[in-house]
Amino acid sequence: MIELDERDECPEDIVHTMCNPDQLGIQLLFVPEEYGGLGGSTFDVYLICEEMARIDLGLATSLFATFLGSDPITVGATPEQKKLWLSRIANEGVLFAYGATEPEAGSDLGSLKTTADRVMQDGKVVGYKINGSKQWISNGGIADLYTVLANTPSGPSWFVVEKGAKGFTHDKPENKHGIRLSNTAALSFVDTYVDADRLIGGAEGQGLLQAQAVFGYTRLMVAAFGLGAGWSALDRAIPYSTKRIQAGSPLSEKQGYTHKLIVPNVVRLEAGRAFIEETAERIDAGEGSLNTEGAIAKYLSTEAGNSAAEASIQALGGYGYTHEYMVEKIKRDVRITTIYEGTSEIMEMTISRDRWQLHLKTRGQHYHERAKQVELLHAAHPNVGADVAALALHALAEVMEKARAGRLTRYQHILLRLGELIAYAEAAATLARRAALMAEGRLNEKANDRFDAAALAAISRIFAREAALKVAQDGLRWVAGAGGVPDAEIPAFEVALNLQAVNRAQSGLIADMDYIADVLYNRVTKREELSALVGVER
Ligand SMILES: Cc1cc2nc3c(=O)[nH]c(=O)nc-3n(C[C@H](O)[C@H](O)[C@H](O)COP(=O)(O)OP(=O)(O)OC[C@H]3O[C@@H](n4cnc5c(N)ncnc54)[C@H](O)[C@@H]3O)c2cc1C
Repeated sequence: MIELDERDECPEDIVHTMCNPDQLGIQLLFVPEEYGGLGGSTFDVYLICEEMARIDLGLATSLFATFLGSDPITVGATPEQKKLWLSRIANEGVLFAYGATEPEAGSDLGSLKTTADRVMQDGKVVGYKINGSKQWISNGGIADLYTVLANTPSGPSWFVVEKGAKGFTHDKPENKHGIRLSNTAALSFVDTYVDADRLIGGAEGQGLLQAQAVFGYTRLMVAAFGLGAGWSALDRAIPYSTKRIQAGSPLSEKQGYTHKLIVPNVVRLEAGRAFIEETAERIDAGEGSLNTEGAIAKYLSTEAGNSAAEASIQALGGYGYTHEYMVEKIKRDVRITTIYEGTSEIMEMTISRDRWQLHLKTRGQHYHERAKQVELLHAAHPNVGADVAALALHALAEVMEKARAGRLTRYQHILLRLGELIAYAEAAATLARRAALMAEGRLNEKANDRFDAAALAAISRIFAREAALKVAQDGLRWVAGAGGVPDAEIPAFEVALNLQAVNRAQSGLIADMDYIADVLYNRVTKREELSALVGVER
């Protein structure tokens, strides 16, 4: 992999092997059974995405592009179109590319300029002529088929364009910071003619809806990429630190090393995983596309993956900075996950806007209600940090209420910061729930079991402390900073946020971090395990 990365080369043979139904055929997982696929669940797809990202995020991206490219078809195509295109993915392993982004339309896809003009014959639409360009398209130079978003007279619509179509060209591959095994290229369309049956769904103007319909699912996939890449870096740093002797002992025995570079990253990655797993289960249970949950999972897991890879370079010191030790490649690769399929800032906005509506609809009670549910969980499982997650949720409700009263979301920065606080508070509750399920032996059998009940409970307690502190302190900071509380009322707001309880909840943090370090380095004593199960007294 490292040689291909250095040569900036997409190994097309490996990509085709991955998609060849007679060889690996990974794409079969996301093609429904009726079209010759395996019809894997969202949970299965998450598992595969994490594994692929552990190997190489560029190759994973290539497969993801076929998945994305086929998405508008799965969601919106006519039965005939589905049969034609999905069967070809399953049976022939054709590669797709997903052409949405344009030079001037990235996060704001609505401003796309590519056009698809009707071609009429005898008063009937017989085809379309596509004109425009697409930017940063994964598989752009190697795909067999392209799904392309273009403006028809009735609005944005998806079209399937075949490689080699007249007037369609792609540029040479981009010279990228990371995922250098993935082919990324710009596309150009000059009067590219497609027959009318290439309009996905047969009706114009459905494109943006079709794109949004599966965001929950596709963002979970990228979330899993962040998770896999982050763990892949840590799984290099952890063994390295047991062998590297400095100042007379291995780095793994130095608390200032493990508690800065390793443990917090493990905790944040596992918070992301908890959110991914819970959301995947809910999508599979038919709760809809869960776009906001997908956004939270993506936001947390990709930011965590990025930080974990960055910390892993530091953990390997000078070796980490060289190509040979891989962590710097992983860091370059994972960086894309906070950008594509919606940037972290767009995730913050998506999360915040959606939950803001819930806050308004419930007259500020939404997160207080959620907190009460988590308090019930605490009564049954006093060791999973649910009490502290509840503090985070209550504080969040107070912050949002002050933001409402002061009309603070007119400041875009406040709106986006709320997105971050929401993600942390919700993930703290989710992690506590999963730690409780693990303790009861009721976690889905496919769920990750790297950590046992005692360790997951400790991870959950650590994350809950971080979430509560972040929500209360940052919430106070931004609300006060935007003039939402007069100076004289800050002490009362601190009481409403329960800042004292949030501060008190930090006690026991180092003991829990010690425990997780011991778990990671296989040096847990029976006594330690017992006290971790019971939870650290506060
Ligand atoms: C390697 C790679 C592969 C890709 N693969 C594909 C693909 O296969 N298909 C495809 O269609 N696209 C693909 N993309 C495009 C990718 O999805 C976009 O780059 C991404 O959505 C961001 O758009 P942009 O680059 O135009 O950045 P912009 O939207 O211009 O954003 C730039 C910065 O501004 C911030 N920002 C944007 N809008 C706002 C706002 N309203 N308020 C506050 N901040 C804002 C963003 O968060 C970001 O930090 C790929 C990109 C790369 C780099």
